[in-house]
Amino acid sequence: PAAIDRIAAGEVVERPASAVKELVENALDAGAARIDVALAEGGRALIRVEDDGCGIRPEELPLALARHATSKTDGRDLLDLRFFGFRGEALASLAAVARLSLTSRVEGREAAMITAEGGQVGPVRPAALSRGTVVEVRDLFFATPARLKFLRGAQAERMAAAEALRRLAMAAPGVAFTLRDLSAGGERVLMRLPAETGEEALRARLAAVLGRAFADGAIAIREERDGFLLTALASPPAEARGAAVSQYVFVNGRPVKDRLLLGALRAGYGDLLPAGRHPMAALFLDCDPMRVDVNVHPAKAEVRFREPDLVRSLVVGGLRRALG
Ligand code: ADP
Ligand code: MG
Repeated sequence: PAAIDRIAAGEVVERPASAVKELVENALDAGAARIDVALAEGGRALIRVEDDGCGIRPEELPLALARHATSKTDGRDLLDLRFFGFRGEALASLAAVARLSLTSRVEGREAAMITAEGGQVGPVRPAALSRGTVVEVRDLFFATPARLKFLRGAQAERMAAAEALRRLAMAAPGVAFTLRDLSAGGERVLMRLPAETGEEALRARLAAVLGRAFADGAIAIREERDGFLLTALASPPAEARGAAVSQYVFVNGRPVKDRLLLGALRAGYGDLLPAGRHPMAALFLDCDPMRVDVNVHPAKAEVRFREPDLVRSLVVGGLRRALG
């Protein structure tokens, strides 16, 4: 492949965690109800993501690996907010820098698979699979030794991958997830999240991801204003901790980094929060996509609101009310 393919690949996939994120987003886009992730050596040796989603037709497997090919836009080049994907780059990137196999089945058709190695894409072949899609990524960055050098050890990469999966799982409580570690000694389940349903689905999922102590004690916030809906669970002021690591923000179901929302969270607590303490919180903001710019550079999802003051006062107001 051209060098440019490998350079571009580095932007989408910088480590196993970003590959896990991209593959799990694809599974979510495919409407999966169950997503299984397995890692060997923290994803350095193998990342496998299995889903029970809609699958890919045999004749479309080569397209799935082609750069800039996506099934998720309407041809007018608009970002379709129902989907995570839109660039058509993740699988092409992984195919360029790793050994990739993609096996898939759509209802009413036979399963098929395609492989790629360092950008060399093979033919479509028959395969055995009952439903959905299995993507295996082996030897990430074997084709780009310079990038391989930047990977950290298996333990650090595994933790980062688990964190990426946890974030996506928080915003999809109706989907069942597992994370497994495959090592020489056998298989170890690192995380098992059953599908949650009903009114308390979000609280149940957050309990499984962030801990029961947090979810049981957390204050529930629900605030609606001018087309913005805020749903959040946040720790009571007395439970606030020393570090700000456990604050999660989602805009329209997408994990994002956003100072405005985090600042508003803090402001909502006001004086109730002892100096140097940070609440644990998961904050979900939903609105018309037109009212927020999402810069979905794969490494950093950032948002810019058209009405920052409105968003800020929604969060501050919602929190104050919930805190009494
Ligand atoms: P994007 O998600 O931006 O479209 P990707 O490179 O991640 O680009 O995927 C390319 C295409 O492959 C997708 O548009 C989709 O049609 C198909 N695809 C990838 N993963 C899956 C999956 N798990 N289930 C069904 N289709 C998939
Ligand atoms: Mg994608």
